[in-house]
Amino acid sequence: MIKLFQKKIVTRFAPSPTGFLHVGGLRTALYNYLFAKQYGGKFLLRIEDTDRVRLVEGAEEGIIKTLHVFGLNFDEKQMRQSERIEIYKKYAQRLLEQGSAYEDNVAIRFKMPQEGIAQFTDIVRNVIAIENKGQEDFVILKSDGYPTYNLAHIVDDHETNVTHVIRGEEFISSMPKYIALHKALGLELPQYAHLPLLLNTKRVKLSKREGEVAVYDFLDKGYLPEAVLNFVALLGWHPKDEQEIFSLEELIKKFRIEDVQKSGAIFDTIKLDWMNKEYIKRMSLETLFERVKKYGADTDQSDFKISGGALTEEKVFKILAVEQSRLTVFSELPQIFFMFGTMPEYDVSLLHWKDMSNEEIKNSLELSVNLLKAVSENNFTKENLEKIFLEKAKSFKDRGELLWPMRAALSGKKASPGPFEILEILGKKESLKRLENAIKKTC
Ligand code: GLU
Repeated sequence: MIKLFQKKIVTRFAPSPTGFLHVGGLRTALYNYLFAKQYGGKFLLRIEDTDRVRLVEGAEEGIIKTLHVFGLNFDEKQMRQSERIEIYKKYAQRLLEQGSAYEDNVAIRFKMPQEGIAQFTDIVRNVIAIENKGQEDFVILKSDGYPTYNLAHIVDDHETNVTHVIRGEEFISSMPKYIALHKALGLELPQYAHLPLLLNTKRVKLSKREGEVAVYDFLDKGYLPEAVLNFVALLGWHPKDEQEIFSLEELIKKFRIEDVQKSGAIFDTIKLDWMNKEYIKRMSLETLFERVKKYGADTDQSDFKISGGALTEEKVFKILAVEQSRLTVFSELPQIFFMFGTMPEYDVSLLHWKDMSNEEIKNSLELSVNLLKAVSENNFTKENLEKIFLEKAKSFKDRGELLWPMRAALSGKKASPGPFEILEILGKKESLKRLENAIKKTC
């Protein structure tokens, strides 16, 4: 159940700048963003940099850059906790004065009440009640003068009028501490939504290594930001209907924080692959071309230096037209471009179709050469070549005897686009060169 305050909805994403933004963090940011935007509210970014030991230089910039790539633009300037030390000190002082905290020689600790039950209503998990008994006193201000997360996040959520705290479920067990602190400071509790764990496909909590999947790695591998975001949106939330492909705008309309599941969400990259493929398929060829160019430039891959390189832009365009329906991620492209730009290397066994002998393969390839030679450069199109070859193939007991050796000779691969597409892209001269090369292998 969501309590909608009369107030404007305010959410925040509060990463610690200790490294790259990971998939779990992206999901938290996304859900906070969606919920705020859905209600015309504000989405804030708060950098929780009070743990000076774990601080990583450049992490803050990296996180912000990543959020922007995904269109998760935050309102106002980001808040940095390290710039608010004096404010936390005041709150700690107040707790000291009222006897809710005490100072030992290293830090200021909050006196955790031992009676009663900490109870709150979580949007995802409903009523949660945890006994205060057994909860230890805890540090709120460290000897270095910096506050701990426990104090700082409560102060900031209060001072920035955060209405809804949406974060990972690992914080639930500490809720007695947060509730007690709110009470001691006389602050109203925000609404909470604790998001389910991310699990691997074996349904085990993502291990540190798996879990530390930096979002940027996915982009580097050539996953599209919109596909990654769509995939992440479904880690723990599903619409009531079967829809799976959502733009960010649609997510803002359709996402329901109250429908987020309690059970762990499976992080399955096969699904991500499927989704990315879907996005590629749905793009116009022009868009695909532009995105591929951008990916090449962003990742600084020489194989993508399309103009001036081995492949002309026109050729790349043709390759993409052929590959669009087969492509899963852009990182497959260098190899594909390489295939079209360079004479393939392979073993003669690749040319064998069923039990054909070398002699038969040679004859088949020579026939192909003759057929191709008879076609003028202008007529060297997929449709035309297909017509000619399929007609000729009728005289074979199996058309693979004509088509397989040619396709293998052109691509140097077991699996590739069809032979006629490749022929058109390679053009007459290069196609003949590759077939002659294959014929030599059969001798
Ligand atoms: N800095 C905390 C984290 O990165 C934020 C938790 C919260 O959203 O309250 O997990």
